Amino acid sequence: GSFRGGLADEMLMCPVCQDIFKDPRQLPCGHSMCMTCLEGLMDHSSDVPFKCPDCRAHFGQVVTVQKSYALASIAEDFRLSRRTRVPTRCTF
Ligand SMILES: [Zn+2]
Ligand SMILES: [Zn+2]
Repeated sequence: GSFRGGLADEMLMCPVCQDIFKDPRQLPCGHSMCMTCLEGLMDHSSDVPFKCPDCRAHFGQVVTVQKSYALASIAEDFRLSRRTRVPTRCTF
């Protein structure tokens, strides 16, 4: 059969940039996003409380995030495998 990896894609997809996590950070609600995306959101939320783009949970001005090492390594693996895997679809 053909495994398309759709689930992995979804699990490792940042809700902000819609791409595979780059240096993911985990929010207190359990959702994750890239460090750069998080910084971008925090920049825009200087006068409004920062919200999770996924579940809309409010965290206030100061957000405690922790690096999700497990997610980072999975995402990194996935990015590497995706980059080296050449699509071999014959169009003839
Ligand atoms: Zn992102
Ligand atoms: Zn959330």
